[in-house]
Amino acid sequence: MTSDTLRPTPRPGVMEIDAYVPGRSKAAPGVKLHKLSSNETPLGPSPAAIEAYRALSGRLELYPDGSATELREAIAAAHGLNAANIVCGNGSDDLLELLTKAYIGPGDEGLYSEFGFLVYKIAILAAGGTPVIAPETDFTANVDALLAAVTDRTKIVFLANPNNPTGTYLPITEVKRLHAGLPKSVLLVLDAAYAEYVRTNDYESGIELVSSADNVVMTRTFSKIHGLAALRIGWMYGPAHVVDAVNRVRGPFNVSAAAIAAGTAAIRDRAFMEEAVTHNNHWLEIVTREIGDLGLEVTPSVGNFVLIHFPDVPGRSAADADEFLVSRGLVLRRVSGYGLPNALRLTIGSEEANRAVIAALADFVKDGAR
Ligand SMILES: *Cc1c(COP(=O)(O)O)cnc(C)c1O
Repeated sequence: MTSDTLRPTPRPGVMEIDAYVPGRSKAAPGVKLHKLSSNETPLGPSPAAIEAYRALSGRLELYPDGSATELREAIAAAHGLNAANIVCGNGSDDLLELLTKAYIGPGDEGLYSEFGFLVYKIAILAAGGTPVIAPETDFTANVDALLAAVTDRTKIVFLANPNNPTGTYLPITEVKRLHAGLPKSVLLVLDAAYAEYVRTNDYESGIELVSSADNVVMTRTFSKIHGLAALRIGWMYGPAHVVDAVNRVRGPFNVSAAAIAAGTAAIRDRAFMEEAVTHNNHWLEIVTREIGDLGLEVTPSVGNFVLIHFPDVPGRSAADADEFLVSRGLVLRRVSGYGLPNALRLTIGSEEANRAVIAALADFVKDGAR
């Protein structure tokens, strides 16, 4: 090769990444769009968060507080935590990437379960590490399979609890069993993006486990229950030594001033959060039952979305259902990228959207794609 044909080459792993494909946001022309493809809340953010965001517009020339103190303190107060153990990020994706960057390099392994959130794989490959996948049982992470996949090269185990796109979760007893079986040198990352929605007695987001162990962190997001996905706000709670490592590799101003202001107001608005949970859990139950009654299998979910399974039959498949729904303005999420070509993920929407999906699926099941 002459110097003319040489060009910069990304480091190993980068070109193996399949770029993350966000949920579609376009429907057929001329029909009302219901975007149910990205687990966004139908209620929007708290009015207090919108007001705080607006109030910031007079100060756009100023850099944000690089340590997001106000936001960390509001999160700490809401959850009874020490603000010094919290790091905020540009979305929780930012924190997942920073943790990976800090703990995984070439030759190291990052472990997650079969249908686990795809950002883990992208972060591991981008860091030059090797993704390792443990099989699931009934679309649910399997602790024994995860432990069996641990090697002396494993640096991080990622567990989305509840998981996206399946909506399933592990009870805290299982999370503790996973932790107990891991070498102390392995970091367990509990991604609790949907924790606020879960109201089953055997679930915990992992706060206590973080407090009592040296190798567990929990990540959370303002993109789902708080309705601030556009602003990109996430946070992690972890032991001081992990917080220290992440603070060294993060961008000095990785959380914008708008994110700090709106996030602070959002987490203080408990009543608004409760409303969002009530709406979600009311419709989650109805959507699961009514779609199930149509003869489609729906994986039981504790999040703000459900995974709907379709037969692998021409005219009745998930791809056919997707096209049919899009023609009615209903945009769900294809999950082939997760190894689930026969399923669609539906975000719980407004009453109007939920009813429209149930009605459209009833027509689809009756007639197929005609
Ligand atoms: C939506 C989601 C996140 C949140 O991502 P942000 O970067 O905070 O918007 C994290 N983990 C899982 C499993 C998710 O589904």
